[in-house]
Amino acid sequence: MTMSAIRPGVLLDRDGTIIVDHGYVGSVERVEFIDGAANAIARFNRAGIPVAVLTNQAGVARGFYAIEDVTTVHRYIAQRLAEQRAHVDLFVHCPYHPAGIVEEYARTSEDRKPRPGMAMAAQAALNLDLTASWVVGDRPEDVGLADAIGASAAYLRPGCCERPGVWLFENLAAAATFILARIAA
Ligand SMILES: [Mg+2]
Repeated sequence: MTMSAIRPGVLLDRDGTIIVDHGYVGSVERVEFIDGAANAIARFNRAGIPVAVLTNQAGVARGFYAIEDVTTVHRYIAQRLAEQRAHVDLFVHCPYHPAGIVEEYARTSEDRKPRPGMAMAAQAALNLDLTASWVVGDRPEDVGLADAIGASAAYLRPGCCERPGVWLFENLAAAATFILARIAA
């Protein structure tokens, strides 16, 4: 076995980026895909670009749902994506939050965005060049993650705060077109 060379990847936020952020989505009934998101992931797949989903799930620490529920939601998302020929190479979630009420998860964590733990896990699993990679998300902590790992950021908050290394887009579909052109260049 030989390791493939390190390569750029796409690190996607989940809620507000792939599915609608209904607030603490812990069951499949509350999963609603954002238009164009599945197709955007399929386009990354066809271009051979690894895709990881990195999601803060403080709902676990807050006692709204269990770790198993996060896994179930991710399995369901994967099934729905497969129907559109789209595939996520790695799901990573952070169940921790310092204000949690579930003792096991009530703490700070290097995994919680904007801290880089989940991105480091994706780097190790997918052999990523993080400084050539992209973070796509709709919250300041997603941009903070990009800053923490030296990646570029696609910020799904039109009208916000463009600056070097941060590009604004309406949604994942629009971001994907730009990112695909950049990575291919
Ligand atoms: Mg989000």
